Amino acid sequence: MSPRLHIDLGALRANIARVRETVAPAELMLVVKDDAYGHGLVPVVRAAAADGVTWFGAFDVRTGRAVRAALGGAPRIFSWIAASRADLDEAIAADIDLGIGDAGLLEDLAGAARHARTRARVHLKIDTGLHRNGVRPEAWAAFVARAAALEADGLLEVVGVWSHIAEASDEEDDDARAVFEWALRAAHLAGLKPSLRHLAASAASFARREFRYDMVRVGAFCYGIRSAGGPDARSLGLVPAATLEADVVAVEGDEVRLGIGALHGLPSSLAGRADVSTPGGARRLVRVGATEAVVAGWPDASAGDVVVIYGDDATGAASSTDLAELIGTIGEEIAVRVSPLVPRIYAGA
Ligand SMILES: *Cc1c(COP(=O)(O)O)cnc(C)c1O
Repeated sequence: MSPRLHIDLGALRANIARVRETVAPAELMLVVKDDAYGHGLVPVVRAAAADGVTWFGAFDVRTGRAVRAALGGAPRIFSWIAASRADLDEAIAADIDLGIGDAGLLEDLAGAARHARTRARVHLKIDTGLHRNGVRPEAWAAFVARAAALEADGLLEVVGVWSHIAEASDEEDDDARAVFEWALRAAHLAGLKPSLRHLAASAASFARREFRYDMVRVGAFCYGIRSAGGPDARSLGLVPAATLEADVVAVEGDEVRLGIGALHGLPSSLAGRADVSTPGGARRLVRVGATEAVVAGWPDASAGDVVVIYGDDATGAASSTDLAELIGTIGEEIAVRVSPLVPRIYAGA
C-alpha cells in the first residue's frame, strides 16, 4: 500500500473545542492555509463548521473561495494575501473579508468595490515588526485616515485591525503589542470603529491572555501540532490529529525498507536523526531515498508491517514537532510537506 495520512476528525474537533474554551470570550478564527496544514481543506472546514466555528483564515483568495464553495454563505472567511485586482474582484464576489496592509492595495480594493457596487469588508494590517506586508507605523496615520474616507464614501467597511507576531520571545511580542495598541488608538482617532482586533496565533493565544483581543487566528494547535521548543500537546489539552503511516516493503538482513520517501514528503535530512515507530519499537531511520526509506531492523520484521513516521506522541510515536526539532524546523512544516498524492484517510467525522 502507498503511505497514507490518517486524520482523526474527532481529535481535530476536540482540539478546536479546547482552543475555543481557552481563548473565550475571544473568538476563534481557524487557519486553514496550505490545505489545512496538510489535513485536507474540505473535511476540516466541514467538521469545524458543524461544531460552530464561524471564522476561517484562508491565506489566499483561492483558498477562501474553496472554503466558501464547501460551506456556503454563512461563515466569515478572511484572506490576507491578495496579489492582483482579479483577486480583489473574486474576494468581493465570494463575500470574503480581506486583510490589507498596503496603501495601493487599499485604493485598488475601493475601486473594485465601486465597480461591484458594494462595500468591501477590510481588516487593516499594521506592521508590528515582522515586516510581512503590513503598513509601517510611520505610514499608518495616513493609511487609517484614507480608510476612514473610503468608509465614509460607502466603499469599505473597516471590520478589523490586525497584525502578526513572531511568538518567538515574550519581549519581542510585547514590543509588537505596544505598536499594535498605538495603531488601534490611531485608528480610533481617524474615526474608525473596528470591532475585531486580532493579533495572536497558537502560542500567544494560549500563553498570553492580553494578546487575545476579540479574535485569535489559530492553526497549529487546532491540528494538535505543538510549538517547537514548547510544551507537549497533552499538557496543552491537545491531541495530534494526523498520523503518517508507511508499510515495510522488504527486509534485507538488518535493514528494513519502507514504502515512503522524499517524494512523499519525508525530509531526507531526518535520516540518521529520527526514530520511527515500528512493531518492534522505535527504530532509527537510516536512509531516505526518493520513494523508499531504510530503517534499522527488528526481530520478525516482515513485508506488510506498518510503521508510524509521526503521529500522536502519547502512543509512543514521534509527533511532527518532535521530528521538526531534529532538523531545526517547525511541526507545521513537516505536516504541510506530506505530498498531496499521499491519500488522506478520515475517521471520527
Ligand atoms: C499561519 C498564520 C496563523 C496561524 O499560526 P499558527 O501558529 O499555526 O496558529 C495566524 N496568522 C497568520 C497571519 C498566519 O499566517
